[in-house]
Amino acid sequence: MRHLEKQKDDFIGIVSHELKNPLTSIKAFSQLLENYLDQNKDEKGTFYLSKMAVQIERLTELMASFTDVYQIQNGKLALKKKSFKLDELIANTVVDFHYATKSHTIEHSVPNDLIVFADKERISSVLVNLISNAIKYSPMSKKVLVSATVDDDQVTITVQDFGFGISKVERIRIFERFFRVRSKKEKNIPGLGLGLYISHEIITQHKGKIWVDSIEGQGSTFNVQLPRSKKEKVL
Ligand code: ADP
Repeated sequence: MRHLEKQKDDFIGIVSHELKNPLTSIKAFSQLLENYLDQNKDEKGTFYLSKMAVQIERLTELMASFTDVYQIQNGKLALKKKSFKLDELIANTVVDFHYATKSHTIEHSVPNDLIVFADKERISSVLVNLISNAIKYSPMSKKVLVSATVDDDQVTITVQDFGFGISKVERIRIFERFFRVRSKKEKNIPGLGLGLYISHEIITQHKGKIWVDSIEGQGSTFNVQLPRSKKEKVL
């Protein structure tokens, strides 16, 4: 079993590495093509290219997930920590979703000047994962709430949706690699079951905690707790 798992991880690592160059090249040429079509006022071409760009972005995200999994499995998920304003990161992420998502409104409530010492890129990817899941798994509702609170020892970020919710049995396995809930509701929603696994690893590496509270049929709240060091408290 362990041997097979290792083979699977190595395969993921090799594939993501080998696909990186062609993907970068496709991206670069599509940007050149975009300029070219723009100059020639080719509206139909620009429209088709915009469709391609969405899929290229999706492929890029998939490759990034594979690379993360490979790094985690090989104990190489290095963090690049620095001080940054978490309130600004959350606000910017919410604005990005606002432009990209028509189905939901995302409300956020975060104290100002909330400085944390963490890997900004990685915390950003955790936020994006939790908000996109909140949207993906609540097609029947319109609202997602993002908030952050702070006390002496920690910062807590929550992402709440009013969607499918997650049963008790599934909640135990939700952060496992490749785990996906397989009921009728989720069947047509795309995903690999890697996002929460990667998020869990990132938060654990920060010596933080991630967990979910949920009532089936009513929604889920994902919580992320990051410890505050002495350094941040004086900032
Ligand atoms: P993916 O969304 O690509 O399947 P994730 O690791 O992000 O992978 O999530 C794992 C599984 O957890 C999902 O397939 C889904 O079944 C469940 N899940 C995650 N977030 C939510 C949520 N907000 N509400 C309900 N189910 C969720």
